[in-house]
Amino acid sequence: MRKPIVAGNWKMNRTIGEAQDLVSKLRGHCDGLSGVEVVVCPPFTALRATSHALADSSIHLGAQNVHWEPRGAYTGEISAEMLKDVGCEFVILGHSERRQLFGESNQGVSQKIAAVRSVGLTPIVCVGETLAEREANRTFSVIEEQLSGCLASWIRDPVDPLVIAYEPVWAIGTGRNATPEQASEVHAFIRNRLRDLSDEGVSSRTRILYGGSVNPKNIEALMAQLELDGALVGGASLDAESFAHIVKSSIRTYHGI
Ligand code: PEP
Repeated sequence: MRKPIVAGNWKMNRTIGEAQDLVSKLRGHCDGLSGVEVVVCPPFTALRATSHALADSSIHLGAQNVHWEPRGAYTGEISAEMLKDVGCEFVILGHSERRQLFGESNQGVSQKIAAVRSVGLTPIVCVGETLAEREANRTFSVIEEQLSGCLASWIRDPVDPLVIAYEPVWAIGTGRNATPEQASEVHAFIRNRLRDLSDEGVSSRTRILYGGSVNPKNIEALMAQLELDGALVGGASLDAESFAHIVKSSIRTYHGI
């Protein structure tokens, strides 16, 4: 049985004070909930304050990016050890905004996965096709290429947990989510590819999240799909009530309660 994850990607939003405020509201709704792992991923500048605000909470802390080298002359970058030091347990890698706006490659993501694993953090690896790729019937080949490229380092020794987030690029921040059926077929494809790249055990224990315009209204239908193990939430994670609603609906639907 996989434990679902609902992770909030705050992107470049929230100052320190705003982050503390959001987390304190979120704790009121989500602290102590079982049957789910709740993760918040603030910007780097708010990680330390958020970590303190999460003391003794069941909510986990994540970052939105990392550099693959452990230290050195990499102006403006942050290492995996620094993220661990500040209290992170998860790191989002290969988000489509990083791929599209900052030229992140599958090979770079693979290097980042290795860095993150070396300090015991769990990567949340994003894959997903653009609208043009979907319309050209290239969805599965794009996902295939992203999986084999990004997971190259991990798959050689897949003992540490890794989370995949299927995020169709056309659904991110657009208000247009994938239908549950569209999400489901890609999730099933990802699980099968994980089995081919590794084995049945790795495939069946890896959690695959859906991301792309998830909100309190569409979460239930999405989570009802067999291969969905939670959600990566952007916009709706900036509002404590909306995010908590998504978390609670996910628990109910996933566990059938
Ligand atoms: C995201 O940033 O990963 C995301 C899915 O954003 P949104 O929920 O706003 O579409």
